Amino acid sequence: MRIVFMGAPGSGKGTQAQRLVKHFGIPQISTGDILRKHLSEGTPLGLRAKEIMAAGGYVDDETMLAIIRARLSEPDAGKGFILDGFPRTVAQANGLSKMLSDLGTPLDAVVLFEVDNDQLIKRLSGRRVCELCKNVFNVHTAPPSVPPECVPGRSEHQVVQRPDDAEDTVRERLRVYEEKTRKPVSGFYSYTGLVRTVDAEGDIDVVTKRLLDTLSAGGGTLVSKPAPKKRAAKRRVAPQAKPKARARKVVRKQAARKAVKKKPARRKVARKRAAVRKVARKARPTRRASKRR
Ligand code: AMP
Repeated sequence: MRIVFMGAPGSGKGTQAQRLVKHFGIPQISTGDILRKHLSEGTPLGLRAKEIMAAGGYVDDETMLAIIRARLSEPDAGKGFILDGFPRTVAQANGLSKMLSDLGTPLDAVVLFEVDNDQLIKRLSGRRVCELCKNVFNVHTAPPSVPPECVPGRSEHQVVQRPDDAEDTVRERLRVYEEKTRKPVSGFYSYTGLVRTVDAEGDIDVVTKRLLDTLSAGGGTLVSKPAPKKRAAKRRVAPQAKPKARARKVVRKQAARKAVKKKPARRKVARKRAAVRKVARKARPTRRASKRR
């Protein structure tokens, strides 16, 4: 399985990717995690990316493509992968397509996680990470709780907010995602028939089920949410099913035409019969007349 996970920051694609790692036995490749590792190790790339990430912008395409090229050449990516947070621009999507066509390993699916913007702001600005045990909490929905203990011997978490989870930065990240990723990149993939939209709101287990259902449906079929555009819905009809569907429509139309034609004839007969009955009734002698006779 070679899958691309697309979704706004906070849409839960990282969490779902971790679950699918176990399910399919393929690695999750998160470009955000790779960049954060560079940042924490203080590499030249990390130092370059630091300010861009803190401001909610995007690291340049050339750098991101180089990161992905190197990562996809590692042995574990040979059996498949989940790309989490990549591609984020059309240039990255183009570069990835070329890379995969050179390797002869095309994508199987592009999953688009959809969550309402207000929900995303709540999720991200409320997110806290424990610096010691690395567990992720949310002050609104899942506040840091002990037990379970943080690290052995310590009963309290040391939670911090990621700099890019500050509310202003979150809004900027969502704006950049909408402008550079959601519209253009999903547009790039819309002609491939690979895009599946998943309603990513609600319980995590429910979202995982929706995701697995969507992926197992295969063949470019949309499962979890109706297709937003007519064009996408049309593409879902398998080409071989079209003539049959057309034939059925023709038969239905012919039958309807016949029915319409039949109606006046039936009415005519009914009217004739009614007229006959009326005449017959008039012709019948009344009781009084028969008595007189
Ligand atoms: P994430 O953890 O996926 O939200 O990524 C955190 C930050 O890393 C993003 O806000 C960007 O600044 C940067 N980043 C991650 N992936 C990419 C990418 N594919 N292209 C450009 N910048 C990226």
